Amino acid sequence: MRPLSEFSKKDLAKIKMIVFDVDGVLVPRGTKIKQVGNTTTLNTKVIASKQIEQIKKLHKLGFLINISSGRGLYMLQEMFREILPFVSLTYECGSATWYKGKIYQHINSFERNKNIFPKLKRVALQHRDFKGFEPKEFIITIHSKKRIKEIENVVAQDKNLCTVWNGEAYDILIKKIQTKALGLKSAMKLFKLKKENVMAIGDNYNDQELLEASGMPISADKTRAKGKFYVPLSGKFLPADALMMKILALKKS
Ligand SMILES: [Mg+2]
Repeated sequence: MRPLSEFSKKDLAKIKMIVFDVDGVLVPRGTKIKQVGNTTTLNTKVIASKQIEQIKKLHKLGFLINISSGRGLYMLQEMFREILPFVSLTYECGSATWYKGKIYQHINSFERNKNIFPKLKRVALQHRDFKGFEPKEFIITIHSKKRIKEIENVVAQDKNLCTVWNGEAYDILIKKIQTKALGLKSAMKLFKLKKENVMAIGDNYNDQELLEASGMPISADKTRAKGKFYVPLSGKFLPADALMMKILALKKS
């Protein structure tokens, strides 16, 4: 992996769409969630106005912008409200894409998820490290203070499912299929793009497939995701900020 400082105009030449992961890339890591009985409290993060302006500039330069997150659609719509007219939102780890008010569903996980949900609830709700189920439609996301062995064991009993732990929550996904790559491949069809036309930036384990499906993968955390280039996670700027500054500067020069 090379540092972003070595990224050149040549590397940018074929790029038509830029895909951004959200947590750890456009906003700092960490979701605040609390579940007591049937009441779930969730703190919505805000995208800084600087990043909104940067995305607007990229759009004006002709880049397509795709947001690819494990979060639910309702939350992404809220976060990107101001730029919704021109961004596409791929949510719940590649499960579906929202674009200009239309939803393109990429996977049907109902049959594979329906039996495990009550089992997970039984195990999680009574565990001291459990924080809450994040509201989702196609995946199951369980927040906890740390890894919960019992959750991993329940999921391991189903050969079709897997857990992805990101340091603050588990995503429970259909093994090898329900990944951000599924969403990207569908978005590429929608916008008639080839792999070489796509740059993607992500920071976590659930971004690896996304990065591999793009022609220009950028890692925002070298220890968790591999790319052609990397941006330091703990730099002065958020990874997406650093990347957009770089692209905008190259376009000006
Ligand atoms: Mg992330």
